[in-house]
Amino acid sequence: MGLDDDSREYHRRDPPGKIEIATTKPTNTQRDLSLAYSPGVAAPCRDIADDEDAAYEYTSKGNLVGVVSNGTAVLGLGDIGASASKPVMEGKGVLFKRFADIDVFDIELDITDVDDFVAATKAMEPTFGGINLEDIKAPECFEIEQQLREQMDIPVFHDDQHGTAIISGAALLNAADILDKELDELDIVFSGAGASALATARFYVSLGAKKENITMCDSSGIITESRVEAGDVNKYKAEFAQPVEEGDLADAMAGADVFAGLSIGGIVSQEMVQSMAEDPIIFAMANPDPEITYEDAKSARDDTVIMATGRSDYPNQVNNVLGFPFIFRGALDVRATEINEAMKRAAAEALAELARQDVPDAVVKAYGDHPLQFGPDYLIPKPLDPRVLFEVAPAVAQAAQTSGAARKRLDMNEYRERLEA
Ligand code: NAP
Ligand code: MG
Repeated sequence: MGLDDDSREYHRRDPPGKIEIATTKPTNTQRDLSLAYSPGVAAPCRDIADDEDAAYEYTSKGNLVGVVSNGTAVLGLGDIGASASKPVMEGKGVLFKRFADIDVFDIELDITDVDDFVAATKAMEPTFGGINLEDIKAPECFEIEQQLREQMDIPVFHDDQHGTAIISGAALLNAADILDKELDELDIVFSGAGASALATARFYVSLGAKKENITMCDSSGIITESRVEAGDVNKYKAEFAQPVEEGDLADAMAGADVFAGLSIGGIVSQEMVQSMAEDPIIFAMANPDPEITYEDAKSARDDTVIMATGRSDYPNQVNNVLGFPFIFRGALDVRATEINEAMKRAAAEALAELARQDVPDAVVKAYGDHPLQFGPDYLIPKPLDPRVLFEVAPAVAQAAQTSGAARKRLDMNEYRERLEA
């Protein structure tokens, strides 16, 4: 059987789907039940009515994330609707649980209107310790996230935007380090100006890249000020418009230090790679097919080509699972009110720093015994490396405390020990 049929069977196997609810307290006696429910449950209810934060002591709120989608931009499947997105959202829940022991309710909303989506999600605030927005199409996703961040006192994080930004940001920090280049001197070209590309470009600026050194291309070519004046691009793309001549991706790539692809497969040629500056950095992250293959990019030139893709069968896989479980773990554990820029940067820096350390044998074995050593083919850690949790979650929690987003303070040494236990 192929992957498709195997997956149908996997999902259909009784009980259908991939998640269930489990109880965490004894339910064996009449007394247990009157503690769990009426009449005993009234006591914690009254305490929460007096002090909302008590919900973190008495309920699962503090370890519960809402994965909320309307199914308008699901994986590479496009706008398949809320119902059809449910296997993906359950799958996201599986990853949260597997990598960071976080529980998830997957919430598929049959809503495309921005204001209605915001109102529905905002209304769920009492239930959750955090909201992971998922697979919502651009540009609506920007407005939805911004409004919810303003209105909610729990972290709201659109993973398709910031996950990619943080993980490829970690890879960029290390690629620049290996090549002895400074972020603020890098000429960076983006292919794609959608959800992931715009967030990634903003994050690279947050890490130290210069906005004026970023050239962004959408399906019509370079985003220029003249295209903005002509009313040809939305306000989000306009943020990265440059005062340059109109041109295509090939024009943009000539002389560039970095290519960041978040568009579609196969649109970059070896000639385009040859036109880039010395020792180019090429992150071809379109899924499932990158903008240019690993082999084609590497063989295009004789100098160092640092290459990352979204694929697991090549080095440097930029995959969101390296981020969201651990970022939410740290945010939840300090009862953060948001996931802010400082917390995102801390996550990227922790990932980058971890990749510079020796890799335990068990991790090397889990990835087919290929040597994993810091360098062009190992820029970021592997998701199954248990140290990712121990490093990223405390880094995020610490940044939340320092930046004023934490409602609860942790002793970081104790916290790290607790995670490792
Ligand atoms: P999106 O919001 O739909 O954006 C897609 C962007 O690609 C749009 O700006 C679109 O241009 C542009 N585009 C389409 N055809 C193009 C072409 N021929 N030349 C240049 N640009 C072109 O999608 P997204 O969520 O950002 O995802 C984009 C890609 O990145 C997908 O392949 C996705 O799988 C991949 N991705 C990978 C990761 C990872 O971790 N590896 C994470 C997120 C996304 P217009 O604006 O003109 O339509
Ligand atoms: Mg997604």
